[in-house]
Amino acid sequence: FLRGSTKAAEIPDITFDDVAGQDTAKREVAELVEFLKHPTQYRQLGAEVPRGVLLMGPPGTGKTLMARALAGEAGVKFYSISGSEFIEVYVGVGASRVRHLFEEAKENSPAIIFIDELDSIGRTRGTGLGGGHDEREQTLNQILAEMDGFSGHEAIIVLGATNRPDVLDPAILRPGRFDRHVVLELPDRNDRIAILKVHTHKVPLGDDVVFEQISSGTPGFSGADIKNLVNEAAMLAARGKATKVSMTHFDEARDKLMLGTVRRLAIQP
Ligand code: ATP
Repeated sequence: FLRGSTKAAEIPDITFDDVAGQDTAKREVAELVEFLKHPTQYRQLGAEVPRGVLLMGPPGTGKTLMARALAGEAGVKFYSISGSEFIEVYVGVGASRVRHLFEEAKENSPAIIFIDELDSIGRTRGTGLGGGHDEREQTLNQILAEMDGFSGHEAIIVLGATNRPDVLDPAILRPGRFDRHVVLELPDRNDRIAILKVHTHKVPLGDDVVFEQISSGTPGFSGADIKNLVNEAAMLAARGKATKVSMTHFDEARDKLMLGTVRRLAIQP
């Protein structure tokens, strides 16, 4: 069942164009596309390619999106698993789940393996009160062993994502493991405009909609927040039987989302 439970790996049909802003991160990740497209050439020339890349940045900044876009650009299969799944779903079978994942990816290489929420299994060891994290440790050790075991001939890149790089076990960051770091930032004013453009691509907009104005009114919003905003505005428009999404819908949607954020922040310690 371990194999069967793999989310069928596919080649994502998205590209770097779907990632707005994040130019530095995009440039760094783009270097890997050529390798995934022509691994034999790199091998013949003895070029060393990074095995593990850590994508770090606040929630909703597009880490998953970037990983999928890399696979899409290179035209390779995308295998993904989330750190929290090991704790919630694959209890007791984490290490063998990892083994199977790497096995499958190797059989279908070139490929990307994406490990989301790496921090949930990769926290510094031995800090938990009373310990009891053997299981999590075994899963992490298996991931590191798989990466250490790469002979240099596998056309596989392992991407990890985290919004807590500060809590990661230093063993994860050693050479040959996640030794390349790509930082994703919260979007600035111009980036938010670019993200708005991407997400309103298929949305009929009223003439009064001004992206600059929406962007100015949404400081601190992540890419995911902007996507939510557009969706919320479209829902409000649909509920009001409008044929286009207008500025009042965006304003109302923003207020609603900000209120949610405030409430969320308020209940946090
Ligand atoms: P988390 O840390 O919460 O897992 P993440 O960094 O992996 O978040 P994603 O899941 O990739 O973020 O982002 C969620 C969605 O937000 C994406 O699917 C995409 O629609 C939108 N998004 C985020 N950043 C961007 C961006 N730079 N350009 C376009 N869309 C974006």
